[in-house]
Amino acid sequence: MGQIQLTGLTKRFGDTVAVDDLSLDIDDEEFLVLVGPSGCGKSTTLRMLAGLETPTSGDIYIGGDHMNYRVPQNRDIAMVFQDYALYPHMTVRQNIRFGLEEEEGYTSAERDERVVEVAETLGIADLLDRKPDELSGGQQQRVALGRAIVRDPEVFLMDEPLSNLDAKLRAEMRTELQNLQDQLAVTTVYVTHNQTEAMTMADRIAVMDGGELQQVASPFECYHEPNNLFVAEFIGEPMINLVRGTRSETAFVGEHFSYPLDADVMESVGDREDLVLGIRPEDIAVVDATTDDTPADDAALGDHELRMDVTVVEPHGDQNVLHLSHPDQPSADDALQAVTEGMHLVTRGDRVTVTIPPDKIHVFDAETGTAVHNRRHDQEADRTQLEQ
Ligand code: ATP
Repeated sequence: MGQIQLTGLTKRFGDTVAVDDLSLDIDDEEFLVLVGPSGCGKSTTLRMLAGLETPTSGDIYIGGDHMNYRVPQNRDIAMVFQDYALYPHMTVRQNIRFGLEEEEGYTSAERDERVVEVAETLGIADLLDRKPDELSGGQQQRVALGRAIVRDPEVFLMDEPLSNLDAKLRAEMRTELQNLQDQLAVTTVYVTHNQTEAMTMADRIAVMDGGELQQVASPFECYHEPNNLFVAEFIGEPMINLVRGTRSETAFVGEHFSYPLDADVMESVGDREDLVLGIRPEDIAVVDATTDDTPADDAALGDHELRMDVTVVEPHGDQNVLHLSHPDQPSADDALQAVTEGMHLVTRGDRVTVTIPPDKIHVFDAETGTAVHNRRHDQEADRTQLEQ
């Protein structure tokens, strides 16, 4: 069984704490993505799992067996790195077969058969007699995967395996890797700093920062129920809007606007004074202020409405990203970004009415970064909608 348990795992390099007291349970057959900015300790965690680094303290279990002192060959894992590390003088067949080198219990004919079987799974059976320099980047990546799969390990460890591919191929390989993992049902720990890969591939995402685990949850939860400001900012493109301010009796008070908070949100805020208000760009509604149904002056604005100016329009085809500032305050800290659909034509310089729906806001403690309130949603209903 390929379940993995990490308990209090710590790795120091001199004064640097690369991984700090990491405890994490990964289910058998789960696809877990370790994500975080450069230097957060992802690769070190993976290397400890692989047996390429020794933990300073803490324990690693795979399938219930203690792994700390086992050499990599005896851990029943296979690794795929960013650098495919194919042997240039060997054919594809020989490179894949090399993955079986250390395995016992195969006859030579069985090894050949297994190589062909794996090559067929990966759609590279017609390339078996080529050398790596006769292959495209995507094909080389498949050979590297083949070398890992051929051993039928309990666990795959992948460190940024797609980062050398161009954007289109990367998207294709993402889907292929997911299908393959489904088909092979092998526990996979996948390291990336790319949050799109994390969101689209993971059963669960483990977000790390400064060696510490910030949150481990489904992509849905990391996005809609972040534990803290770090996770909220790291997951989501364009980034969540974060506005610093303080609390009055009934409202969040920013530099340029005041935003009423519902009673239950105020209750969660408690006696905290310094707050950060968060709202995802796609949750902001934007209406052209010159249309008939918008209030003519600020006094007529609703509680959750603001008047703002469009400073930049980034067209992405299917959607536009609007940069919005408070009138005559283009560089204010509480400027916002909003996403509107591509057919919603807005131009730079337009004055718009912006609605921040109260059920979509997040509130964070400015001092600790902890989420005090996350957007409301009915997870079951949202999930059903996603599946339709
Ligand atoms: P990246 O995305 O850039 O690969 P990462 O999240 O994988 O980053 P790690 O490679 O795990 O980060 O590094 C975590 C920290 O440990 C960094 O501060 C790094 O400089 C340090 N570190 C890693 N390996 C060593 C080493 N062999 N000796 C000294 N410090 C190291």
